[in-house]
Amino acid sequence: MYRPTRMLALYDTLRRRRVPFRPRGRTVTLYVCGVTPYDTTHLGHARTFLVFDVLIRHLEAGGLRVKYAQNVTDIDESILQRAADRGRDWRELGRDEERKFLQDMRALSWRRPDVMPHATREIDAMRALAERLERRGHAYRIPDGGLYYEVTTFPRYGRLSRFSPSKMRRVLAQQDDTRLDDSRKRSPLDFALWRRVADGPTWPSEYGPGRPGWHLECSAMSLRHLDQPLDVHGGGDDLIFPHHESEIAQSEGATGRPFARYWVHVAAMKLGGEKMSKSKGNMVFVRDALTRVSADGLRLYLLSKHYRKPFEHDEEEMRRWGAFAVQLREMALPRATAQLPREVKAALDDDLDTPRVLRLLRGYVRARDAESATVVARYLGLRLR
Ligand SMILES: [Zn+2]
Repeated sequence: MYRPTRMLALYDTLRRRRVPFRPRGRTVTLYVCGVTPYDTTHLGHARTFLVFDVLIRHLEAGGLRVKYAQNVTDIDESILQRAADRGRDWRELGRDEERKFLQDMRALSWRRPDVMPHATREIDAMRALAERLERRGHAYRIPDGGLYYEVTTFPRYGRLSRFSPSKMRRVLAQQDDTRLDDSRKRSPLDFALWRRVADGPTWPSEYGPGRPGWHLECSAMSLRHLDQPLDVHGGGDDLIFPHHESEIAQSEGATGRPFARYWVHVAAMKLGGEKMSKSKGNMVFVRDALTRVSADGLRLYLLSKHYRKPFEHDEEEMRRWGAFAVQLREMALPRATAQLPREVKAALDDDLDTPRVLRLLRGYVRARDAESATVVARYLGLRLR
Protein backbone atom coordinates (compact mmCIF):
# COMPACT_ATOMS: atom_id res chain seq x y z
CA MET A 1 0.00 0.00 0.00
CA TYR A 2 1.34 3.39 -1.00
CA ARG A 3 1.80 5.63 2.01
CA PRO A 4 2.99 9.06 1.08
CA THR A 5 4.84 10.82 3.88
CA ARG A 6 2.97 13.95 2.97
CA MET A 7 -0.21 13.78 1.07
CA LEU A 8 -0.26 15.04 -2.48
CA ALA A 9 -3.03 17.58 -2.98
CA LEU A 10 -4.38 18.33 -6.43
CA TYR A 11 -6.88 20.89 -7.57
CA ASP A 12 -9.88 19.00 -8.91
CA THR A 13 -11.84 20.95 -11.50
CA LEU A 14 -15.11 19.14 -10.78
CA ARG A 15 -15.03 19.93 -7.06
CA ARG A 16 -13.44 23.37 -7.60
CA ARG A 17 -10.97 22.87 -4.76
CA ARG A 18 -7.77 21.20 -3.80
CA VAL A 19 -8.33 17.69 -2.57
CA PRO A 20 -5.98 15.04 -1.20
CA PHE A 21 -5.02 12.60 -3.91
CA ARG A 22 -5.79 9.10 -2.65
CA PRO A 23 -4.66 6.31 -4.93
CA ARG A 24 -6.74 3.15 -4.87
CA GLY A 25 -3.78 0.83 -5.24
CA ARG A 26 -0.25 0.58 -6.54
CA THR A 27 -1.24 1.61 -10.05
CA VAL A 28 -2.62 5.00 -10.95
CA THR A 29 -4.33 5.49 -14.29
CA LEU A 30 -3.93 8.75 -16.16
CA TYR A 31 -5.68 9.76 -19.36
CA VAL A 32 -4.61 12.96 -21.08
CA CYS A 33 -6.31 14.29 -24.19
CA GLY A 34 -3.70 14.36 -26.90
CA VAL A 35 -3.11 16.14 -30.15
CA THR A 36 -4.82 16.34 -33.47
CA PRO A 37 -1.78 15.97 -35.66
CA TYR A 38 -2.15 18.53 -38.42
CA ASP A 39 0.28 21.20 -37.28
CA THR A 40 3.50 21.57 -35.34
CA THR A 41 3.74 21.31 -31.55
CA HIS A 42 3.55 24.73 -29.89
CA LEU A 43 4.57 25.75 -26.39
CA GLY A 44 1.01 25.39 -25.10
CA HIS A 45 0.95 21.70 -26.00
CA ALA A 46 4.40 21.17 -24.56
CA ARG A 47 3.49 22.89 -21.31
CA THR A 48 0.35 20.77 -20.84
CA PHE A 49 2.15 17.49 -21.45
CA LEU A 50 5.15 18.45 -19.30
CA VAL A 51 2.90 19.21 -16.34
CA PHE A 52 1.60 15.64 -16.49
CA ASP A 53 5.14 14.41 -17.02
CA VAL A 54 6.12 16.00 -13.70
CA LEU A 55 3.03 14.58 -12.02
CA ILE A 56 3.97 11.10 -13.26
CA ARG A 57 7.58 11.43 -12.10
CA HIS A 58 6.39 12.58 -8.70
CA LEU A 59 3.91 9.71 -8.32
CA GLU A 60 6.45 7.16 -9.48
CA ALA A 61 9.10 8.47 -7.12
CA GLY A 62 6.52 7.95 -4.37
CA GLY A 63 6.38 4.24 -5.20
CA LEU A 64 3.33 4.18 -7.46
CA ARG A 65 3.07 2.80 -10.95
CA VAL A 66 1.40 5.03 -13.49
CA LYS A 67 -0.42 3.74 -16.52
CA TYR A 68 -0.60 6.67 -18.87
CA ALA A 69 -2.75 6.84 -21.99
CA GLN A 70 -2.94 9.71 -24.43
CA ASN A 71 -4.92 9.63 -27.64
CA VAL A 72 -4.06 10.75 -31.13
CA THR A 73 -7.03 12.25 -32.95
CA ASP A 74 -5.88 11.15 -36.36
CA ILE A 75 -9.24 11.75 -38.04
CA ASP A 76 -10.79 15.14 -37.65
CA GLU A 77 -12.21 17.93 -39.76
CA SER A 78 -9.08 20.02 -39.23
CA ILE A 79 -6.82 17.28 -40.60
CA LEU A 80 -9.07 16.77 -43.60
CA GLN A 81 -9.19 20.50 -44.24
CA ARG A 82 -5.41 20.91 -43.96
CA ALA A 83 -4.77 17.90 -46.17
CA ALA A 84 -7.15 19.27 -48.80
CA ASP A 85 -5.49 22.71 -48.66
CA ARG A 86 -2.10 21.17 -49.21
CA GLY A 87 -3.22 18.59 -51.70
CA ARG A 88 -2.00 15.79 -49.48
CA ASP A 89 -3.34 12.48 -48.34
CA TRP A 90 -4.92 13.02 -44.89
CA ARG A 91 -3.44 9.80 -43.46
CA GLU A 92 0.02 10.70 -44.59
CA LEU A 93 -0.29 14.24 -43.24
CA GLY A 94 -1.45 12.91 -39.86
CA ARG A 95 1.39 10.38 -39.67
CA ASP A 96 4.01 13.02 -40.52
CA GLU A 97 2.69 15.51 -38.00
CA GLU A 98 2.46 12.84 -35.33
CA ARG A 99 6.07 11.84 -35.96
CA LYS A 100 7.11 15.48 -35.56
CA PHE A 101 5.10 15.80 -32.38
CA LEU A 102 6.85 12.78 -30.90
CA GLN A 103 10.24 14.15 -31.93
CA ASP A 104 9.51 17.50 -30.30
CA MET A 105 8.35 15.89 -27.09
CA ARG A 106 11.21 13.41 -27.03
CA ALA A 107 13.60 16.35 -27.27
CA LEU A 108 12.01 17.62 -24.05
CA SER A 109 12.55 14.23 -22.31
CA TRP A 110 8.83 13.66 -22.14
CA ARG A 111 7.80 10.35 -20.63
CA ARG A 112 5.99 8.74 -23.52
CA PRO A 113 2.53 7.35 -22.72
CA ASP A 114 2.17 3.60 -22.20
CA VAL A 115 -0.68 3.60 -24.67
CA MET A 116 -1.30 6.01 -27.53
CA PRO A 117 -4.57 4.90 -29.08
CA HIS A 118 -5.36 6.26 -32.53
CA ALA A 119 -8.94 7.21 -33.34
CA THR A 120 -8.91 5.49 -36.73
CA ARG A 121 -7.95 2.19 -35.13
CA GLU A 122 -10.65 2.32 -32.45
CA ILE A 123 -13.74 2.78 -34.54
CA ASP A 124 -15.25 -0.52 -33.32
CA ALA A 125 -15.04 0.58 -29.70
CA MET A 126 -16.65 3.90 -30.58
CA ARG A 127 -19.48 2.27 -32.49
CA ALA A 128 -20.08 -0.11 -29.58
CA LEU A 129 -20.22 2.77 -27.12
CA ALA A 130 -22.61 4.70 -29.36
CA GLU A 131 -24.89 1.68 -29.56
CA ARG A 132 -24.81 1.27 -25.81
CA LEU A 133 -25.83 4.91 -25.34
CA GLU A 134 -28.69 4.47 -27.74
CA ARG A 135 -29.87 1.32 -25.92
CA ARG A 136 -29.78 3.18 -22.63
CA GLY A 137 -31.91 5.99 -23.97
CA HIS A 138 -29.26 8.69 -24.16
CA ALA A 139 -29.12 9.00 -27.92
CA TYR A 140 -31.44 9.48 -30.87
CA ARG A 141 -31.13 9.00 -34.58
CA ILE A 142 -31.69 11.63 -37.18
CA PRO A 143 -32.69 10.06 -40.49
CA ASP A 144 -29.67 10.30 -42.78
CA GLY A 145 -28.03 12.50 -40.16
CA GLY A 146 -26.42 10.15 -37.68
CA LEU A 147 -26.69 9.62 -33.94
CA TYR A 148 -26.83 12.41 -31.36
CA TYR A 149 -26.46 12.48 -27.60
CA GLU A 150 -29.51 13.96 -25.93
CA VAL A 151 -28.08 16.16 -23.23
CA THR A 152 -31.32 16.47 -21.22
CA THR A 153 -31.16 12.72 -20.48
CA PHE A 154 -28.08 13.41 -18.37
CA PRO A 155 -29.02 15.88 -15.62
CA ARG A 156 -25.41 16.35 -14.51
CA TYR A 157 -24.48 17.84 -17.88
CA GLY A 158 -22.78 21.15 -17.11
CA ARG A 159 -21.49 20.20 -13.70
CA LEU A 160 -17.83 20.16 -14.72
CA SER A 161 -17.79 23.50 -16.54
CA ARG A 162 -20.59 25.12 -14.52
CA PHE A 163 -21.56 26.94 -17.69
CA SER A 164 -25.12 28.12 -18.17
CA PRO A 165 -26.93 26.78 -21.24
CA SER A 166 -26.53 30.15 -22.95
CA LYS A 167 -22.80 30.21 -22.28
CA MET A 168 -22.59 26.66 -23.63
CA ARG A 169 -24.32 27.76 -26.81
CA ARG A 170 -21.92 30.68 -27.22
CA VAL A 171 -18.89 28.40 -26.87
CA LEU A 172 -20.33 25.86 -29.28
CA ALA A 173 -20.98 28.54 -31.87
CA GLN A 174 -17.21 29.03 -32.16
CA GLN A 175 -16.35 25.38 -32.64
CA ASP A 176 -15.49 24.10 -36.06
CA ASP A 177 -16.99 20.68 -35.92
CA THR A 178 -20.33 21.71 -34.42
CA ARG A 179 -20.98 23.68 -37.59
CA LEU A 180 -21.31 20.35 -39.33
CA ASP A 181 -24.09 19.29 -36.99
CA ASP A 182 -27.52 18.43 -38.19
CA SER A 183 -30.03 21.23 -37.70
CA ARG A 184 -32.66 18.65 -36.77
CA LYS A 185 -31.08 18.13 -33.35
CA ARG A 186 -33.57 18.22 -30.46
CA SER A 187 -31.49 20.76 -28.58
CA PRO A 188 -28.61 22.94 -29.74
CA LEU A 189 -26.50 21.42 -26.95
CA ASP A 190 -26.93 17.86 -28.21
CA PHE A 191 -23.72 16.60 -29.74
CA ALA A 192 -22.83 14.10 -32.43
CA LEU A 193 -21.86 10.58 -31.47
CA TRP A 194 -21.82 9.63 -35.10
CA ARG A 195 -22.15 12.10 -37.94
CA ARG A 196 -23.36 10.83 -41.23
CA VAL A 197 -21.31 12.46 -43.96
CA ALA A 198 -21.26 12.12 -47.69
CA ASP A 199 -17.68 12.89 -48.58
CA GLY A 200 -14.21 12.27 -47.26
CA PRO A 201 -13.23 9.14 -45.36
CA THR A 202 -16.14 7.32 -43.78
CA TRP A 203 -16.72 4.14 -41.83
CA PRO A 204 -19.86 2.01 -41.98
CA SER A 205 -22.21 2.02 -39.01
CA GLU A 206 -25.80 1.35 -38.02
CA TYR A 207 -26.44 5.03 -38.57
CA GLY A 208 -25.05 5.00 -42.04
CA PRO A 209 -21.55 5.70 -43.32
CA GLY A 210 -19.90 8.54 -41.47
CA ARG A 211 -17.41 9.57 -38.85
CA PRO A 212 -17.44 9.34 -35.05
CA GLY A 213 -17.79 12.46 -32.93
CA TRP A 214 -14.62 13.74 -31.32
CA HIS A 215 -15.88 13.39 -27.73
CA LEU A 216 -16.84 9.77 -28.34
CA GLU A 217 -13.25 8.96 -29.14
CA CYS A 218 -11.89 9.70 -25.66
CA SER A 219 -14.74 7.97 -23.82
CA ALA A 220 -14.32 4.82 -25.92
CA MET A 221 -10.54 4.72 -25.74
CA SER A 222 -10.20 5.45 -22.04
CA LEU A 223 -12.76 2.77 -21.24
CA ARG A 224 -10.97 0.26 -23.46
CA HIS A 225 -7.41 0.95 -22.35
CA LEU A 226 -7.68 2.08 -18.73
CA ASP A 227 -11.05 1.09 -17.32
CA GLN A 228 -13.46 3.26 -15.47
CA PRO A 229 -13.16 5.24 -13.27
CA LEU A 230 -9.91 6.76 -14.39
CA ASP A 231 -7.80 8.05 -11.53
CA VAL A 232 -6.76 11.27 -13.24
CA HIS A 233 -8.19 12.75 -16.40
CA GLY A 234 -6.25 15.69 -17.72
CA GLY A 235 -5.85 18.12 -20.54
CA GLY A 236 -5.80 21.78 -21.42
CA ASP A 237 -8.46 23.87 -19.70
CA ASP A 238 -9.99 24.78 -23.06
CA LEU A 239 -11.23 21.17 -23.17
CA ILE A 240 -13.45 21.48 -20.09
CA PHE A 241 -16.40 22.41 -22.25
CA PRO A 242 -17.64 20.85 -24.45
CA HIS A 243 -15.12 18.04 -24.67
CA HIS A 244 -14.75 16.82 -21.09
CA GLU A 245 -18.31 17.69 -20.17
CA SER A 246 -19.46 15.47 -23.03
CA GLU A 247 -16.99 12.70 -22.18
CA ILE A 248 -18.55 12.51 -18.71
CA ALA A 249 -22.07 12.36 -20.15
CA GLN A 250 -21.10 9.56 -22.50
CA SER A 251 -18.99 7.47 -20.16
CA GLU A 252 -21.29 7.72 -17.16
CA GLY A 253 -24.36 7.45 -19.34
CA ALA A 254 -23.07 4.20 -20.82
CA THR A 255 -21.72 2.51 -17.70
CA GLY A 256 -23.65 4.10 -14.84
CA ARG A 257 -20.34 4.45 -13.01
CA PRO A 258 -18.24 7.54 -12.23
CA PHE A 259 -15.89 8.42 -15.07
CA ALA A 260 -12.86 10.05 -13.46
CA ARG A 261 -11.78 10.56 -9.85
CA TYR A 262 -9.73 13.73 -10.39
CA TRP A 263 -9.91 16.30 -13.17
CA VAL A 264 -6.67 18.22 -13.71
CA HIS A 265 -6.56 21.07 -16.21
CA VAL A 266 -3.63 23.11 -17.42
CA ALA A 267 -4.20 26.78 -18.26
CA ALA A 268 -3.40 28.21 -21.65
CA MET A 269 -0.12 29.49 -22.99
CA LYS A 270 -0.60 32.98 -24.37
CA LEU A 271 1.12 35.25 -26.81
CA GLY A 272 0.26 38.92 -27.10
CA GLY A 273 -2.47 38.51 -24.50
CA GLU A 274 -4.30 35.82 -26.45
CA LYS A 275 -4.35 32.07 -26.12
CA MET A 276 -1.74 30.47 -28.35
CA SER A 277 -3.77 28.65 -30.95
CA LYS A 278 -3.77 27.35 -34.43
CA SER A 279 -6.83 29.36 -35.31
CA LYS A 280 -5.24 32.66 -34.21
CA GLY A 281 -1.85 31.75 -35.66
CA ASN A 282 -0.02 33.24 -32.63
CA MET A 283 2.12 30.24 -31.87
CA VAL A 284 5.70 29.62 -30.84
CA PHE A 285 6.73 26.15 -31.94
CA VAL A 286 8.81 23.85 -29.80
CA ARG A 287 11.29 23.21 -32.59
CA ASP A 288 11.86 26.93 -33.14
CA ALA A 289 12.23 27.62 -29.43
CA LEU A 290 14.83 24.84 -29.27
CA THR A 291 17.07 26.78 -31.66
CA ARG A 292 17.23 29.57 -29.06
CA VAL A 293 17.25 27.64 -25.81
CA SER A 294 18.30 24.15 -24.72
CA ALA A 295 15.73 21.45 -24.00
CA ASP A 296 16.50 21.72 -20.27
CA GLY A 297 16.10 25.49 -20.47
CA LEU A 298 12.75 25.17 -22.22
CA ARG A 299 11.55 22.59 -19.70
CA LEU A 300 12.47 24.89 -16.82
CA TYR A 301 10.81 27.83 -18.52
CA LEU A 302 7.55 25.94 -19.13
CA LEU A 303 7.46 24.83 -15.49
CA SER A 304 8.26 28.28 -14.14
CA LYS A 305 4.59 29.29 -13.81
CA HIS A 306 1.96 27.38 -11.91
CA TYR A 307 0.03 25.10 -14.23
CA ARG A 308 -3.34 26.61 -13.33
CA LYS A 309 -2.25 30.11 -14.28
CA PRO A 310 -2.29 31.33 -17.85
CA PHE A 311 1.27 31.73 -19.11
CA GLU A 312 2.16 34.72 -21.28
CA HIS A 313 5.14 33.81 -23.40
CA ASP A 314 8.20 35.99 -22.85
CA GLU A 315 11.19 35.39 -25.06
CA GLU A 316 13.60 37.13 -22.65
CA GLU A 317 12.47 35.04 -19.74
CA MET A 318 12.83 31.88 -21.78
CA ARG A 319 16.44 32.82 -22.55
CA ARG A 320 17.13 33.50 -18.88
CA TRP A 321 16.01 29.96 -18.07
CA GLY A 322 18.29 28.79 -20.85
CA ALA A 323 21.20 30.54 -19.14
CA PHE A 324 20.23 29.03 -15.82
CA ALA A 325 20.16 25.56 -17.42
CA VAL A 326 23.78 26.10 -18.52
CA GLN A 327 24.75 27.04 -14.98
CA LEU A 328 23.00 23.95 -13.66
CA ARG A 329 24.71 21.67 -16.13
CA GLU A 330 28.12 23.04 -15.22
CA MET A 331 27.46 22.48 -11.57
CA ALA A 332 25.73 19.09 -11.81
CA LEU A 333 27.36 16.04 -10.30
CA PRO A 334 27.60 12.87 -12.35
CA ARG A 335 26.16 10.99 -9.39
CA ALA A 336 24.13 12.59 -6.67
CA THR A 337 22.94 10.41 -3.85
CA ALA A 338 21.11 12.90 -1.67
CA GLN A 339 17.43 12.47 -0.93
CA LEU A 340 15.04 14.86 -2.58
CA PRO A 341 14.96 17.88 -0.24
CA ARG A 342 11.85 17.76 1.89
CA GLU A 343 10.87 21.31 0.93
CA VAL A 344 10.86 20.33 -2.75
CA LYS A 345 8.63 17.35 -2.11
CA ALA A 346 6.34 19.58 -0.06
CA ALA A 347 6.10 22.07 -2.92
CA LEU A 348 5.19 19.38 -5.43
CA ASP A 349 2.70 17.85 -3.00
CA ASP A 350 1.12 21.28 -2.85
CA ASP A 351 -0.77 21.00 -6.15
CA LEU A 352 2.48 20.68 -8.16
CA ASP A 353 3.91 24.05 -7.19
CA THR A 354 6.75 24.01 -9.71
CA PRO A 355 7.48 27.77 -9.46
CA ARG A 356 8.29 27.19 -5.78
CA VAL A 357 10.48 24.23 -6.71
CA LEU A 358 12.39 26.39 -9.18
CA ARG A 359 12.90 29.11 -6.57
CA LEU A 360 14.36 26.45 -4.28
CA LEU A 361 16.51 25.14 -7.10
CA ARG A 362 17.90 28.61 -7.75
CA GLY A 363 18.68 28.82 -4.06
CA TYR A 364 20.72 25.57 -4.16
CA VAL A 365 22.66 26.87 -7.13
CA ARG A 366 23.36 30.18 -5.39
CA ALA A 367 24.48 28.30 -2.28
CA ARG A 368 26.73 26.05 -4.43
CA ASP A 369 24.82 23.04 -3.11
CA ALA A 370 25.55 20.85 -6.13
CA GLU A 371 24.14 17.72 -4.52
CA SER A 372 20.64 19.18 -3.99
CA ALA A 373 20.69 21.06 -7.30
CA THR A 374 21.49 17.86 -9.20
CA VAL A 375 18.90 15.77 -7.41
CA VAL A 376 16.14 18.32 -7.92
CA ALA A 377 17.01 18.97 -11.57
CA ARG A 378 16.93 15.24 -12.35
CA TYR A 379 13.67 14.86 -10.42
CA LEU A 380 12.14 17.46 -12.71
CA GLY A 381 13.28 15.48 -15.74
CA LEU A 382 16.27 17.58 -16.77
CA ARG A 383 19.01 15.78 -18.66
CA LEU A 384 21.87 18.01 -17.46
CA ARG A 385 24.00 17.41 -20.49
ZN1 LIG B 1 -10.22 13.90 -25.13
